[in-house]
Amino acid sequence: MAKPTYEDWHEEDGFAIDNATKGALNVLKWAYDNYDDELIYACSFGVEGVVMLDLITKAKADAKVVFLDTGLHFQETYELIDKVKERYPDLKIELKKPELTVEEQGEKFGEKLWEVQPNRCCYYRKVVPLQAVLSGATAWLSGLRRSQGPSRANTNFVNLDENFQSVKICPLIHWSWEDIWDYVKEHNLPYNPLHDQGYPSIGCAPCTLPGDGRDGRWAGKGKTECGLHIKQ
Ligand code: SF4
Repeated sequence: MAKPTYEDWHEEDGFAIDNATKGALNVLKWAYDNYDDELIYACSFGVEGVVMLDLITKAKADAKVVFLDTGLHFQETYELIDKVKERYPDLKIELKKPELTVEEQGEKFGEKLWEVQPNRCCYYRKVVPLQAVLSGATAWLSGLRRSQGPSRANTNFVNLDENFQSVKICPLIHWSWEDIWDYVKEHNLPYNPLHDQGYPSIGCAPCTLPGDGRDGRWAGKGKTECGLHIKQ
């Protein structure tokens, strides 16, 4: 059976918005029914990520999950990944590394590329690896929420992703920050302890500071996205 394209979906009615998951579980069940193993979740292991993983396991226990392992993440993030693997042993979690190690990148492009050319650093360490992962997939999942900021305010459940020539499915678009944390507490989910230390959004250590919302990401660099969701 042919996989649905963005245009196919656009002609359908929307998804039912249930009270418990604001449509997320319906979207996930639809997505795995249609794409199955050709659907990949690119998980950052932030707090939205652990909610996504818990919901995903209700739709497909052995779903494919990819973490873009730049080699520059906080130790707490790697420890959280270990906890998630224990809790959901059937999930197929891949830590996808860039072609160059941090040291090799420093030798080729200069030390601390993230300080002088963060877009280029994100391109080599995140965008190119995700392109490689998605070359074998038809669709991918992301935990974007509309209330995260202007760059995400127009996200739909199903999006045409021109960056990666793919369908990007975002089940959490209607969730608020409070909804996320209510779900984490209700289901006793593991989460990154840095969230309790003033880091609402957690990415690579050199580019993440405490702050409100996504303010702490690339602070002072005039950059708000890594290039996975908006071309940089
Ligand atoms: Fe490099 Fe920072 Fe992007 Fe990580 S978030 S890939 S360190 S620029």
